[in-house]
Amino acid sequence: NRLSIADPIRTNDILRKYKLRAKKSLGQNFLTNETVLDDIVDASDLHSDEIAIEIGPGIGALTEKLSQVAEKVYAFEIDSTLIPVLEDTLSYYDNIEVFNEDILKVDLDEFVTEHHLEGKTIKVVANLPYYITTPIMLNLINSDYPFQALVLMMQKEVAERITANPGHREYGSLTIAVQTQMDAKIARIVGKNSFIPRPKVDSAVAVLERKPKDEINIEDPVFFNKVIRSAFAQKRKSLMNNFLNWLGRTDENRALINEVFTDCEIAENARGEQVSIEQYKKMATELKQRTK
Ligand code: SAM
Repeated sequence: NRLSIADPIRTNDILRKYKLRAKKSLGQNFLTNETVLDDIVDASDLHSDEIAIEIGPGIGALTEKLSQVAEKVYAFEIDSTLIPVLEDTLSYYDNIEVFNEDILKVDLDEFVTEHHLEGKTIKVVANLPYYITTPIMLNLINSDYPFQALVLMMQKEVAERITANPGHREYGSLTIAVQTQMDAKIARIVGKNSFIPRPKVDSAVAVLERKPKDEINIEDPVFFNKVIRSAFAQKRKSLMNNFLNWLGRTDENRALINEVFTDCEIAENARGEQVSIEQYKKMATELKQRTK
């Protein structure tokens, strides 16, 4: 009949017992809303033969719930003062391993091999530290190991950017970096009162599921990234202007870009945010052929 770690009474007890003060610099906002935690676990759709990787377990609120559904939970926490706390709060569970590491310095591909997890369904589930949401997310998406799903709590604005459709203000290079590899949706919005301490911004749980390989089909990822970076280099400028800045402002280049636009059904005065990912893929292929 113990209270869950996320119960506000238990969370406050733990914070008091260990004289913990949430560290702002590490993005520490502890979840104390069990419904939200249940929704995160539901969104992850973890099965008893699957592995969960958690980033930033904090005092263990989410870790506890994940261990109840997954075969095994591996959690990476940068703050060494939380390690003895987690040993205590999670002592009841025998399928959790906590590592005192900075997730940005962990080679997850190597981790998967070392722990003989190849071939396993591995899902990353986390209430992310918001100051490094983007690098963490992009590392996970671009890792060699194809994590099947990422269920990530993040700042609401970032969730809106990664799930945006063309034509919307939020649609940009981050949207494309994510959506080329993953299907992304928002599972729910989470208000500030669900955390101790309360963060300054609202949050959202985003669910990213890996697309099948044949849907991703980007021939030359390095060149594709160059196209995207150039397209959004100056957001207020037209795509044509951004490409001319990249390729050189000559009549020849203008004509070449115009041809590519026609082939890809893109208007001459279009802006980067109006172009779909499929159109960017086609443009990248054509631009590469013609600028060789
Ligand atoms: N999972 C807990 C929860 O939901 O209550 C805590 C989430 S809190 C928003 C983010 C956690 O990430 C903190 O425990 C923080 O110490 C940890 N963290 C911050 N930067 C990290 C990093 N680079 N690598 C690993 N953990 C990090």
